[in-house]
Amino acid sequence: MGRFDGRVAVITGAARGIGFGTAKRFAEEGAAVAIIDLDEAAASDAAGRLAPTGSTAGAIGIGCDVSNAESVDAAVARVVEELGGIHILVNNAGITRDNLLFKLTEEDWDLVMNVHLKGAFLMTKAAQKHFVEQKYGKILNLSSVSALGNRGQANYSAAKMGIQGFTRTLGIELGPFGINANAIAPGFIATEMTDATAARLKMDVDEFRRLNAEANPVRRVGYPEDIAAAAAFLCSDEASYITGQTLYVDGGSKLG
Ligand code: NAP
Repeated sequence: MGRFDGRVAVITGAARGIGFGTAKRFAEEGAAVAIIDLDEAAASDAAGRLAPTGSTAGAIGIGCDVSNAESVDAAVARVVEELGGIHILVNNAGITRDNLLFKLTEEDWDLVMNVHLKGAFLMTKAAQKHFVEQKYGKILNLSSVSALGNRGQANYSAAKMGIQGFTRTLGIELGPFGINANAIAPGFIATEMTDATAARLKMDVDEFRRLNAEANPVRRVGYPEDIAAAAAFLCSDEASYITGQTLYVDGGSKLG
């Protein structure tokens, strides 16, 4: 028996990286999974790769831009129609457009706000209708240690701290309806996002990871599986008395 037997989980930005790792874990624990990503072919391919992991509940891939209301409403409607409901939402889709403040463009500010904050808002609004009706739902939002401030990430940092305020408010508003909302703030996780940061800094990926591992109290970088494990707990019924919280999953990188 899995913790997510009979549950339908929707994970955004899940064609790769942390989202895919989380989708894989949820499928292994019995969930039917909808992988949402910008590119439908990439989302469907990722859904196809979940099958061998033991999920018998089914997985589908849906192309959707989480910052577009029409696209979001259509995606959530498809999940309900094709998988028979929706019980868990993981707002994971994300982008970076890093630059020092004086070079940061209005376009890159808006892009980052739209994907992280507006995207989480639109997806949550579409899902909560179903959650409230059935008096059951789990929402998990991806924040970041960068919420605490990070040079070159004024846009991303503001969005990721915004996610924490959004999560606390969802906890207050939706708690009476059997809905839990929490956030995870990952530290350095080895994905294409951090590989792109290495490229931007003109550093070798392995060297970039090695330096980050060396500076971390637990002397390693994180992997999507580290986030997936915490996500599975927070979205499970074992965590039903936890809401509005942000859990830092970062190897202690911000402890001092
Ligand atoms: P990733 O490997 O870059 O994957 C992000 C995925 O989101 C990509 O497949 C991307 O699609 C998709 N996406 C982007 N914009 C979208 C949109 N508008 N609608 C739907 N999907 C969209 O990133 P990751 O490292 O796994 O990060 C996942 C989440 O964790 C993000 O919210 C990130 O900010 C957060 N996080 C990551 C780290 C880290 O160290 N990796 C640390 C802290 C927080 P395309 O490829 O088509 O753009």
